[in-house]
Amino acid sequence: MTIREVQDMFLYVSKKMIESEPILTEIDLKIGDGDHGVGIAIGFRGVENKLNNSTYLSINKIFKDIGFTLLAEMGGASGVLFGTIFISGIVNYPPKDDFTLNDFTKVFSKGLEALKERGKAKIGDKTMIDSLEPAVLSLKASVNHKVSMEKAFLLATNAALDGVEMTKMFPAKFGRAKYYREKSIGFQDAGATSIYLMMRSMSEWMSKKKVGV
Ligand code: ADP
Ligand code: MG
Repeated sequence: MTIREVQDMFLYVSKKMIESEPILTEIDLKIGDGDHGVGIAIGFRGVENKLNNSTYLSINKIFKDIGFTLLAEMGGASGVLFGTIFISGIVNYPPKDDFTLNDFTKVFSKGLEALKERGKAKIGDKTMIDSLEPAVLSLKASVNHKVSMEKAFLLATNAALDGVEMTKMFPAKFGRAKYYREKSIGFQDAGATSIYLMMRSMSEWMSKKKVGV
């Protein structure tokens, strides 16, 4: 994918995340304080604005701008964490004007590791890790099996959705939802849902563009 394509894809992702505000609010209200939808919408409005008003010479800078915008504008526990995925994912990555499936996989994998390091949560703790980790594992398997980028993101989206479903089984241990403990069982995690929605919109954009087929 070219610089312009990555920029366009994240503009599409931003639009979709902003549109998800009501559903994310509803989910976070059930076992949290209900601010996740607003946070995501504010953060991605910032990203939309930044990407619409910037010219890029590398894909690395796009990731960096997305991360720092989310970090600065989203707020809440998840703002720092969402920002970390992008900022730490791309840090020290060799400058690129073209991104393959392998590049996306490496960046999201590094971002996941940084998220785990920073937030101290692990799989099964009812957080965004429950959808990001299966998505990253799926991307890695696709790289190994030389799957096309479009198909790989479709598979990763499905893996993320399975992860969201799994979060319904666990009690929350992190974020505001932890105060609900056992009462949070039966409800899906808001952050895990956002990660799934982000993967899904990347996948949608790729299938519309027929990237890497
Ligand atoms: P808050 O819980 O402070 O209200 P948000 O509502 O913005 O924050 O985000 C909540 C989401 O953040 C949760 O659904 C969860 O997915 C994610 N989250 C919270 N703490 C952590 C953590 N330590 N590691 C990973 N994800 C986390
Ligand atoms: Mg909240």
